[in-house]
Amino acid sequence: MSLRIKFMLALLSTGLAAAAMVGGLAYVGVTSKVDLIRRQQAAEHFYKYMSAYVGRYGGWQAAIEAESFDRFMQRSIELDGDSAGRVASASVAPLPAGLGRSIGADGRPMPPPARRDGDEPAARPQDMRPAPPDGERRGPADQERRGPPDDERPGPADGERPGPPGGERRDPADGERGGPPDGARRGPPEGERAAARDQRRPDNGRGAAPPFHFVVADQDYKVVLGAGIYRPGEPLPAAAREGARAVVVDGRTALYISSEGVLTPSKQEQQYLNAVREALLAGAAAATVLALLLGVLLSRGLSRTLTRLTDAVRAMHGGSLLQRVPVQGRDEVAALATAFNEMSEQLAHSHAELHASHQTILEQAEQLRELSVRDALTALYNRRHFDEQAITLFNQAVRHQRPLSLVIGDIDFFKRINDQFSHATGDAVLRKVGEILRGHMRLSDLVARYGGEEFVIALPETALPQAAALCDKLRELIEGHPWHEVHPELKVTMSMGVCADIAAGTAEAMLQKADALLYRAKETGRNRVCFA
Ligand code: GH3
Ligand code: MG
Ligand code: MG
Repeated sequence: MSLRIKFMLALLSTGLAAAAMVGGLAYVGVTSKVDLIRRQQAAEHFYKYMSAYVGRYGGWQAAIEAESFDRFMQRSIELDGDSAGRVASASVAPLPAGLGRSIGADGRPMPPPARRDGDEPAARPQDMRPAPPDGERRGPADQERRGPPDDERPGPADGERPGPPGGERRDPADGERGGPPDGARRGPPEGERAAARDQRRPDNGRGAAPPFHFVVADQDYKVVLGAGIYRPGEPLPAAAREGARAVVVDGRTALYISSEGVLTPSKQEQQYLNAVREALLAGAAAATVLALLLGVLLSRGLSRTLTRLTDAVRAMHGGSLLQRVPVQGRDEVAALATAFNEMSEQLAHSHAELHASHQTILEQAEQLRELSVRDALTALYNRRHFDEQAITLFNQAVRHQRPLSLVIGDIDFFKRINDQFSHATGDAVLRKVGEILRGHMRLSDLVARYGGEEFVIALPETALPQAAALCDKLRELIEGHPWHEVHPELKVTMSMGVCADIAAGTAEAMLQKADALLYRAKETGRNRVCFA
């Protein structure tokens, strides 16, 4: 997988993860905040009306004798014009008896239930009376004061009621109205009651939280309003007591209000939450598109520079050390490109310096080699070099059966030149003689200063007659040189011995023969060439 694809995938996954996390947290936060605010508002208003209710009549018992709580609340809301109160009442919609029927899910009071003939309006408060103690049977008067049975009341449809599902919801008044049979009133064992309570719960005790509702208990924590979950007179569970809020009348606690269950968002709130969720989903989609777009753009720039760097490295590997890649931006890749450019420049510079010094060393080595084989005064080859080359030339001549002549020349009476004209003049004569000899050699010939005023010449591919003729010509040139330009009385001649006898066996033996011939030339009058 290319770096560009990896980079895009990383950006995409990061963008999606960030959008999902932020969106999820925001949605959960908004949902829980809305839930908390609604709970607080509902609790505050319920507490407000309940305090007013029991405060007005001096206590719970007197209050329900005089007026049902839902009617009191409805009246108060109409007087106050308190819309928040409607919301609060809607939130406590599962309240038992008339309250659940008189306050709708939209917070508006529902039409009062139609009374059957003979029903007393005062029967409404009776709905919220606490149940008589277990075993205490309700009298017929209770039955008369109660409202019509649940199935006869023309309340709103279950779907409109913000209470537990109709099939599972059980109005606590059910337990109060009509009264259970004697046996039931005496009350089953606590285990059976708990099971029965679970059955009354909207989730049938299966674990799902019931709708939000308030439970009201008296000062002894006996339920007076059970919201369809608890029977009146049933003790408030310990967990509910902990969060219960006391309603104080005349300095003493009259009631405890506890809330429980899940607050179902209203239609408007649900729309709001849906809008938030859709906005967050749109944000996540936008983040995805942005991540892809950024991935394409950024990875293109990144891969472009890296590709150039790779090409440049390959070019360096191929020998072109001086490379330069464009530097864009100030990120790590730009820093890498800058460092690469500097490295390439330094490397190329160092390589150039190294190459130059290598050339210098080669030249100096060549100079040293030249110096080691040359004579400093005449610039001719020296004796050591001549001896080495003479052996090679002799071997080649023998191998190829080719002629080879070796010559030794010696300046006549050179000591007298030194003595008569100076040592410097002697040096000048040596240099000039060297020039004359070198100037008339072929490329394949080899001439050297053998020592003092003696010179040696190797003439490959040259038989004795040609060698003798050449030497005689050289002798004439030396003799005929205008030495008077150096000094008016200066005269220089050379005697020479030539040997072309390869049969002598070695180059050294040939030289010895040439030297003997030179000696003969000296003996026979100098300024002459002797050969054999
Ligand atoms: P001959 O004709 O018999 O060869 O006599 P010659 O004087 O040339 O020979 P000899 O061997 O007696 O003298 C050679 C002289 O060459 C002796 C020495 O001082 C001189 N000489 C040797 N090398 C150099 C040199 O490099 N420069 C100078 N100026 N003189 C040198
Ligand atoms: Mg000599
Ligand atoms: Mg001499």
